[in-house]
Amino acid sequence: MTDTLDIKITKTTKSRLAETDFSKLAFGRTFSDHMLVADYSDGEWKNFEILPYGEITVSPGISALHYGQSFFEGIKAYKHADGKVSIFRPDKNAQRFNKSAERLCMPTIPEDIFLQSLAAIVDIDRDWVPAAPGHSLYIRPFMFATDQYLGVAPSQTYKYMVLLCPVGPYFTKPLRVKIETYYTRSAAGGMGFAKSSGNYGGSMYPAKKATEEGFDQLIWTDAKEHKYVEEMGAANAMFVLDGKLITPLTQDTILDGVTRDTVITLAHDAGFLVEERNVAVAEIIEGAKNGKLTDAFGAGTAATIAPVGSISLNSEEYTLIDPKEREFSQKVLKTLDAIRYGNGPDVHGWNYFV
Ligand SMILES: *Cc1c(COP(=O)(O)O)cnc(C)c1O
Repeated sequence: MTDTLDIKITKTTKSRLAETDFSKLAFGRTFSDHMLVADYSDGEWKNFEILPYGEITVSPGISALHYGQSFFEGIKAYKHADGKVSIFRPDKNAQRFNKSAERLCMPTIPEDIFLQSLAAIVDIDRDWVPAAPGHSLYIRPFMFATDQYLGVAPSQTYKYMVLLCPVGPYFTKPLRVKIETYYTRSAAGGMGFAKSSGNYGGSMYPAKKATEEGFDQLIWTDAKEHKYVEEMGAANAMFVLDGKLITPLTQDTILDGVTRDTVITLAHDAGFLVEERNVAVAEIIEGAKNGKLTDAFGAGTAATIAPVGSISLNSEEYTLIDPKEREFSQKVLKTLDAIRYGNGPDVHGWNYFV
């Protein structure tokens, strides 16, 4: 732990809290009263500031806009019954933040500074953490390159920012997913493990095509042969097959999700067998056909667990059992909610109180 982070604070004189309808929150559209900003120049982070949420001015020549030196994180804070506010496993996001930064030739942020910055902004806007069941405050830290320079080279200057969005329960209608056998999200040696803006930009066209075909989501497969499952949209793909939790091993094509790690840990705690390994499309389809695939979901911070209703491969659609009857994901979700909302023991110390 280093010294307390010095942050200049300017509070809003016009809070939007009273006029915000917390019963009608669409994901990522409602922002809290404040935001955090810091600058990187001359090899160090400086000018940490919390100020009213609003527009920022940047040059049209900044390299983030032209060459995509830009990445982000997604984290949630929860309100407990006793009014306390905790952020869920932000240390994991701090580590991943720096992995993304390194892959993109961007500066890292010391873990304790990252954590202090989150705590400071969430503390100022703690009244924006919704208390209703299934609600939370989504925290969006991000960094982008700010050199005005059209040459292709890592920027010398950057901005780090944190935005906050109160969010309601993610609508978890069972998803119709399609196994993607042409487009790829990432390839070996690429930046699939980084939460880079560019990975998202490149995934929108295949996702849009799938939507036009009536699907809700894609299952990405390996770039080389399209024979192995990689991820599900912007979430990690997890299955219960033959009574075991199976999920692709994280490697450079796959984002190392915090929710994925949380689900694996809770599965171990419950004595459930877990296999992190290559997951063949063929075995998933076989399991969907013979009924041995008893659970399938995407794991990520935004939705926590997004159940798969049906899986399609080459125009053949296989419907899975009703999500309400899925023992594994129902149980994990219950245990996880108890921890996040302070209604159960937090044996792993996952709650970071603000
Ligand atoms: C953010 C993300 C995930 C989920 O990670 P969490 O830490 O659980 O939110 C999975 N896959 C991709 C590609 C992502 O960007």
